[in-house]
Amino acid sequence: RITVLGSLNADTILKMPHLPLPGETIALTAKKTAGGGKGANQAIAAARAGAATTFIGQVGADSAGTLLTDALQAAQVNLDHVTTTTAAATGQAYIMLDDAGQNSILIDGGANQTLTVADVTAAKPAITSADFLVAQFETPLAVTLAAFQIAKAAGVTTILNPAPAKATLPPKLLALTDLIVPNETEASILTQQTVIPTQLSTLKAAAAKLQAQGVANVVITLGETGVFYDQHGLSGQIPAFKVKAVDTTAAGDTFIGALTAVLAKDLHNLPAALTFASRASALAVQTLGAQPSIPTRQMIDQARF
Ligand code: ADP
Repeated sequence: RITVLGSLNADTILKMPHLPLPGETIALTAKKTAGGGKGANQAIAAARAGAATTFIGQVGADSAGTLLTDALQAAQVNLDHVTTTTAAATGQAYIMLDDAGQNSILIDGGANQTLTVADVTAAKPAITSADFLVAQFETPLAVTLAAFQIAKAAGVTTILNPAPAKATLPPKLLALTDLIVPNETEASILTQQTVIPTQLSTLKAAAAKLQAQGVANVVITLGETGVFYDQHGLSGQIPAFKVKAVDTTAAGDTFIGALTAVLAKDLHNLPAALTFASRASALAVQTLGAQPSIPTRQMIDQARF
């Protein structure tokens, strides 16, 4: 059982030949809307990969909110702890995507930012009954901290995706985190050290710094290079599958959801779970859009690269 705490965003995807430079004006070549938000994406990824998944989050009282909760429901995610506020609109993301599959993203947090500690306290049974609690940084930090405190007090394994990147975190949060999963940029900003995917020493140094702050298990995703992991000082790397990337939006979210879904009860089978997650995200990067690209268990098991 997995509980995901996090954001829901209505994504507007704007396709263009290249990302505009400061001061440059260019024409878009296509426009599409899709469900997104790191939290919702990770919950859908976990559910499609076969896990019983519950979501904690907040939407506005508008059509975007309905669309997003409908998408979670269609993926069989439990919505008992998704609240609706009249104080803010549903979160929005504007995703600029170029022909090479690179993106730049603008976020209007909206209802994701009005989620409160009281909302999480009300969802306590959904946290304490889970095997894993997963959170990111698109909802307020104080709320994540409260949820992790509830989780750890009940012996629930906590997984933190520190995205979007933050340079400083409350030390308490890292001490409550069992597994941290940044990408290379987030790892670099978080540790204030240079992280280079092809230089193992930089990966090990970043992991050691996070472990010194109380996170025993570190996984750093490295885009098309693959993934690095370090469990209590035992480290390894898994290369990415060779595929043609169309849109890397939600590669990391698919990775985290699928990873959590196959971890079973704890972190003992982490390396095998990382290979499964790499397969899932290699499928995700081959399709446009965040939620439309997230594969099912059957697709992951049957994929041939
Ligand atoms: P994020 O989306 O958070 O930046 P990454 O880009 O590191 O995360 O991607 C997460 C995982 O998705 C990688 O570890 C890798 O397994 C897979 N992945 C990402 N990009 C590609 C790609 N171009 N080809 C194959 N796999 C990819």
